[in-house]
Amino acid sequence: MLKSKDSPNSLDQRNATRLRVLEHIRTRGSISRTDIASALQTSPATVTAATADLIAAGLVKETEGETSAKSAKRGRPRVLLQLDGRSHLVAGLKVARHVISVLLVDFEGNEVTSHMHQLKDVQMTPVAFVATVRLALEEACDRINGSIQQLAGVSIGIAGLVDAKRNFVHWSSSITDRNVDFSYLFSEGLPCPTFVENDANLVAKAEQLFGQGKGLKNFLVVTIEHGVGLGIVLDGKLYRGERGCGAEFGHAKVQLDGALCQCGQRGCLEAYVGDYALLREMTVTGHSSEMANVSDIHVQANSGDQRAASVLARAGQMFGLGVSNLINLFDPECIILSGAQMSMEHLCSEDVMNRIKNGVVNVDAPLPEIKIHQWGDLMWSKGAAAYGIEQVSILKVQELAVQHAP
Ligand SMILES: [Zn+2]
Repeated sequence: MLKSKDSPNSLDQRNATRLRVLEHIRTRGSISRTDIASALQTSPATVTAATADLIAAGLVKETEGETSAKSAKRGRPRVLLQLDGRSHLVAGLKVARHVISVLLVDFEGNEVTSHMHQLKDVQMTPVAFVATVRLALEEACDRINGSIQQLAGVSIGIAGLVDAKRNFVHWSSSITDRNVDFSYLFSEGLPCPTFVENDANLVAKAEQLFGQGKGLKNFLVVTIEHGVGLGIVLDGKLYRGERGCGAEFGHAKVQLDGALCQCGQRGCLEAYVGDYALLREMTVTGHSSEMANVSDIHVQANSGDQRAASVLARAGQMFGLGVSNLINLFDPECIILSGAQMSMEHLCSEDVMNRIKNGVVNVDAPLPEIKIHQWGDLMWSKGAAAYGIEQVSILKVQELAVQHAP
C-alpha cells in the first residue's frame, strides 16, 4: 500500500518535478543545482532529491564546473549536472514513400549514425511495416557494430492521421489498412518501447528544439512534400487534437467538389499543392514522361513552358488561400514553411505573399513572420529522435517512481 506521502498525486508531482529538472538540464547543457532551483522557482531540497533520483537512474551525471568566487572560498569547484549521453541509444525514423531514414542518437541528441533503407513498396501491410522498420533499424545498428537490443526507444514519423497517445493510426498513405492499433504489433515485433507520430508534428518538435521555432511559444509549421502537413505549437506545446486528427491542413477544403485527394475526398488543399498533385496535373496534359519530381516542373516552367508555369501558379494561389486561413484561425508568432529536397519557390513568390496578405482579416498590425526552412534529408528523423528521447525520458522517470514506491 502507498504511504500517504506517496499517494498517486504526490507520485505524479514528483515525476513532474523530475521531468522538469531533466528537461531544464537538457535545455541548458550543464547547470548547478542552485541555478536549477532558482530557474524553476522551487526549493534547493526538491532539486537535490530529484537530481539524486536522476543520477541513480543513470540519466544525469555530475561534472566539475569552473570555480566560482563563492565556491573558491570553500576551496572546491562548482558541481554541475548534465545529461549522461551514453545512458541511452534512441532511434528516430521517418517513413517516406520510397525510403526510411533512420537516425540513431545518444540521450543528449547527438548523432551516432544514420542510415537510408530503400523501400520496395509505397504501401505496406501493418505487419510488413513493423518488419521493415525492424530491418531498417538492424541495418542502422550494424553500422556501429551494435544490436537492435541496445535501443532504449524508437520513434517513427509517418504521414497521416495518428493518435500518438495510443500508437493508433487512423489512416496513413504508407499503410494498406485503416484503424491500425500498433501497440501490440510493436511489442511483438520490436525489442524496445516504440512510438508512432504524425510526421509534421515531429517536424514541429524539431523546429522547436533545434530549428527556427526555438524560443517561440505559438508557431505553426507547414510541411510540403508528397502531401501537406501541419504542426501546431501553442503555448510551447504540440497541439494534436482530441483524437489525434487535428492539424490536417492538407485536407482543409479549398474548392467545392474539387480535385480528388489521396484521402478519398475532393477539394483538399494537398490535392492542389502536394507533389503528387502537381505531377498528376502535368500528366493530364501529356508531360508525364519527363516529370519525375517537382523540380522538373520548375525547370520546365523556367524554360518557358506555359502549362508548367500555370500548374505551379495555381498551387501557389491555393497555398496562399490556405495560409491566410491559418493566420485567421491561429494568429501565430510565425509560420515556418518546412520542406526537404524540394523547390518551394512557387509557394513563397510575391504573388503568394500578396494572396496571403489579402486573405488575412484586416487589422492595423503586421502579419506574422513567414520563414522558409529547407531541410536536409535527416531533419524529419531528427524530429522523430527528439520525440523518442522525450518519450524515453518519461518512461525512465515512471520506472523510477515504481522502484521508489513502497
Ligand atoms: Zn484529403
